[in-house]
Amino acid sequence: MFAGETEFVKGVVAMDGLPDPDRPEVCFAGRSNVGKSSLINALTGRKGLARASNTPGRTQEINYFTVGESHYLVDLPGYGYANAPLAVVEKWQRLLKNYLRGRVTLRRAFVLVDARHGIKPVDEEIMSLLASAAVTFQCVMTKTDKLKKGELDKVLEQVRGKLQQFPSAYPELVLTSSEKGDGIETLRAIIAGID
Ligand code: GDP
Repeated sequence: MFAGETEFVKGVVAMDGLPDPDRPEVCFAGRSNVGKSSLINALTGRKGLARASNTPGRTQEINYFTVGESHYLVDLPGYGYANAPLAVVEKWQRLLKNYLRGRVTLRRAFVLVDARHGIKPVDEEIMSLLASAAVTFQCVMTKTDKLKKGELDKVLEQVRGKLQQFPSAYPELVLTSSEKGDGIETLRAIIAGID
């Protein structure tokens, strides 16, 4: 699938703006600064693609990308905007819930977790939301290059422990470093295998 041209399709602010559900899609969720834009750029091989859609004002949008014709990659805005006005947060949360519950072609969510920090309460919140929307999810550890192996193993143990409360979570973690390219092929293969 990743041989094709990568394109930014659109930023969606309401359910009626979603593209036709004509192909399987996967979404990416994670706290601000977790490395989501970097990961999407590494996956698609297009520098600046996700960042371009990450400019202020677009942060509350669901951003759609195509890679070839086979799948949509969906970039959900980073959560944990402490400073956003409540009305904005509530509107966004409503859209997110409706998207997760109502998108028939959504096959899997990848929840990005910073390898240095492990699963934080705000990550557990999104996981609970995914679980209640019956969306299966898989954790992708980001920035693994920042840790020594022993340190990483400790965090992975924490993550595996936390995931046990979520029966709909895939037990296999994907370890990535957008900086070094580690895990990117693995993640591409996982996505390509989803239909
Ligand atoms: P986003 O807010 O989740 O989209 O995060 P970004 O992709 O913008 O990344 C946040 C910061 O982490 C930036 O300074 C990136 O350069 C850095 N970063 C992202 N991925 C990696 C990685 O794999 N390794 C390292 N060392 N830094 C990373």
